[in-house]
Amino acid sequence: MASLTLPRALYRALVEEARHSLPNECCGLLGGHGQAVKEILPAANALSSPTMFEIAPRELFELMRRLRNKQLQLVGIYHSHPAGDNAPSARDRERAYYPEAAYVIVSPAPEAPRPVRAFRLRGQEWDEWEVEVVD
Ligand SMILES: [Zn+2]
Repeated sequence: MASLTLPRALYRALVEEARHSLPNECCGLLGGHGQAVKEILPAANALSSPTMFEIAPRELFELMRRLRNKQLQLVGIYHSHPAGDNAPSARDRERAYYPEAAYVIVSPAPEAPRPVRAFRLRGQEWDEWEVEVVD
């Protein structure tokens, strides 16, 4: 299983953002190098929805520019699932426009066994990646 490396402070920040965004989904980009996340770039959920997210094209453009200015790559795209399993939905697959990126799904639920999970689309199937939290 491939893995995504996530610093502990960013792991905590993702879970906190998912909780603060309740009842809606949060979303944003993960910048870094290869499979190592170095930075979180939060975005507004343009849909303000508990079951869907969208980053407005203008904001996405801005965030991509910030990544380039910092010489970071787009490692992943994250969003939260306020209710239910933090595994990709059918809609997530339909809208996975960046197949090179890891799709990271965060659960705000205190009882979630794995609050941050990462997936990558291979054809029509999702491969789950291990999320390696590093200090
Ligand atoms: Zn989703």
